[in-house]
Amino acid sequence: MAAQSRTQSVSVIGLGNMGSALAEALIANGHRVTVWNRTASKGEPLSAAGATVAASASEAAAAGQTVVVCVTDHDASASLLLTDEVAKALRGKLLVQFSTVTAEQSRTLDHWAAENGVEYLDGSILAYPSNIRSNEGGTILYSGPRALFEANAVVLGDMNATPEFVGETVGSAAIFDKTIYAYHYAHMLAFFHGAAMCHAAGLPVDTYVRQVAEHGVSSKRRFGEMIAKRSYDNPSCAMEVEAQAYSHVVKLSEKLGVDSRFPKTVMGYFKQAIADGHGQHDLASTFEVLLKPST
Ligand code: NAP
Repeated sequence: MAAQSRTQSVSVIGLGNMGSALAEALIANGHRVTVWNRTASKGEPLSAAGATVAASASEAAAAGQTVVVCVTDHDASASLLLTDEVAKALRGKLLVQFSTVTAEQSRTLDHWAAENGVEYLDGSILAYPSNIRSNEGGTILYSGPRALFEANAVVLGDMNATPEFVGETVGSAAIFDKTIYAYHYAHMLAFFHGAAMCHAAGLPVDTYVRQVAEHGVSSKRRFGEMIAKRSYDNPSCAMEVEAQAYSHVVKLSEKLGVDSRFPKTVMGYFKQAIADGHGQHDLASTFEVLLKPST
């Protein structure tokens, strides 16, 4: 693996919302960027920003020392990459998969890369394109050979999201991101549900947003410590008390006429934890309920 120069030629295949943002970041950080997208018109703004537009995916693969792919899913990515022409163009180069895929799909691409002399990293973007554009608050998880990750730190860092290495086993990043999606989407549903209750009650939603925006950081750390030890004794608030408080959320949701499926689901987990003997344990004991498969 050669040491990486500060700027290099990078190709971006896939110019949807995310691929375009990544290409913009690479251009802004001084790299020579080549782009390709199935719908050619999406290359125009990037061409205006300084990118070279390739005529095909294989031409883009040939142009970059590092080639990143960011399309809808594995099937789209495989349909573009798994050709003899692209394999030849990628030989000896770094391919980074940013399309959201499963760990198994990432390993399929890794095998193909190894067979064709292509270096491969599996990348999972934990950011919106707006984070990439503003260079704020984004992280990209990587798995694959650590040495490859470290040797390419410059270009990976120039995609305007903090690169974080999560393991040598290809597919680790693709599993890790799903655990974070599990948190993000359910957390956001709770956020939207609270906002809906607030709106239905005729209260200012912006006050609610201010109250919850920074909420829960220290609690998550404390819960995380309990989960690590699998020990939930001496709670500052017992599960039975927490569940009693939360039961008001279910009742008020119903009274306000907003959708109460989400709080009823949450309540179901708390009731299960109590039934399993965690009534006097911490709220974090809900983790034990979630470890079991659903019945
Ligand atoms: P998007 O705006 O819908 O763009 C999809 C891209 O995939 C387009 O470039 C599209 O080409 C291409 N594509 C789809 N099917 C194709 C096919 N069969 N052959 C060739 N190209 C194909 O999606 P996005 O938001 O950029 O997301 C791209 C990937 O990044 C997804 O896997 C997504 O999960 C991941 N991601 C996105 C975000 C985000 O906030 N947007 C965040 C993290 C991760 P056309 O333009 O020709 O249709």
